[in-house]
Amino acid sequence: MQEHELLRTLQPVWLDRATLTLAKAANLREDLRAQLESFFEMLTQAVETGDSAWLDPVLTTWATSLTQTELEGGESNLLEFLREIVVLTGDVSRQALNNDQALNLISALLPHFAYCFSKAAFMEMQARIAYISDQLKSVQQTLEKLDRSKSDFIAVAAHELKTPLTLVEGYAAMLRDASEGRPLTAYDIDLLNGISTGARRLKAIIDDMIDVSLLDNNLLSLNIQPMWLNRMFAVLYNELADSLQERKQTLEIKSFPGCDEMTFGDPERILQVFRNVLTNAIKYTPDGGKITIDGRKLPGFIEVIIRDTGIGIDPEDQVLIFDKFARLGKSDLHSSGKTKFKGGGPGLGLHIARGIVETHGGAIWVESPGYDEHKLPGSTFHILLPLRLEPPDEAMARLLAPLMNKNN
Ligand code: ADP
Repeated sequence: MQEHELLRTLQPVWLDRATLTLAKAANLREDLRAQLESFFEMLTQAVETGDSAWLDPVLTTWATSLTQTELEGGESNLLEFLREIVVLTGDVSRQALNNDQALNLISALLPHFAYCFSKAAFMEMQARIAYISDQLKSVQQTLEKLDRSKSDFIAVAAHELKTPLTLVEGYAAMLRDASEGRPLTAYDIDLLNGISTGARRLKAIIDDMIDVSLLDNNLLSLNIQPMWLNRMFAVLYNELADSLQERKQTLEIKSFPGCDEMTFGDPERILQVFRNVLTNAIKYTPDGGKITIDGRKLPGFIEVIIRDTGIGIDPEDQVLIFDKFARLGKSDLHSSGKTKFKGGGPGLGLHIARGIVETHGGAIWVESPGYDEHKLPGSTFHILLPLRLEPPDEAMARLLAPLMNKNN
């Protein structure tokens, strides 16, 4: 008798034994029996034809029906299941056949069982990879949703805060007007100034929140005009003079090729970028430190380089600080003082700076040997801006023609 015929004689006993051994719960037996019957049928075909591929459909069914728990647990239940089939097939053969027949049958079955193992391992791995990538996709979706709701929250909060702020500003102005002509004590003046400073700070934070929500929704529009970098540096020098004096710091503005050339960009927004980077340089540099603005002209770009002699930034944080709310987890540093030493703000400044620079088609990054409050390694921010020599539209070109001819 040939091996496949031997197998057929074993089928009823094998099926009963396999169903009892492999289906632990009685209610699963019927379903499993049908599957085992089909497996046995395919195994017989494989032995008869010498082609193990007959087993593929049933193996695929088993691999794809791995349960959630099996996938989560990472245990290989399918391989264990096949191992039990191999053992019980050997048992049934030895009991029902004579020694020679059993030996022949087992030798004939071995290559097909080996095929089952390798195929099942491969399919199981594929099912696991598909499961993990599904999990990753759903985590990514959750994170995106979270980011959306964070961004929605910022937009709503900024809007809601604007109304009471306008009230505070309005009443402060009325109070100032009402006190006009009346002698104010130094204390009254302090109180009025306190309200104004607080309202100004709050407005700056709300404006930052609005900018973040504009950037998150790709709604930041640029008002492209001619601009000169050296003029912006001069504006900021004046603006920051008091803070620099208070912190006994010096700001050196170097003249570099391209800094006095007219280029097109949104001067208000670019000023905001330099302001954010410079106020950070003041904040994260101890009293007496030095800040330098330098730069260079590159083909098609101007690179502005802002160096400080401050506490520096760890290499692993150098990308992170451009994310929104990035305060490097040091909430103890939080302070509402705009230029107080290490007075961490809401963590929006560099995120906005990056958004503005990238909307201009440029790039911003930082280099620093690391964070050290004693050795003060300093940080160097690079701001790469495209050198745009042409006006953005015809109307502006006509308007600027005399100025541009003069510059050429
Ligand atoms: P913040 O409002 O906290 O200043 P930013 O977005 O401006 O937010 O900066 C993010 C973080 O990057 C800061 O909290 C600080 O830890 C770090 N950082 C920014 N600029 C510097 C700098 N010049 N030196 C050292 N650390 C800096």
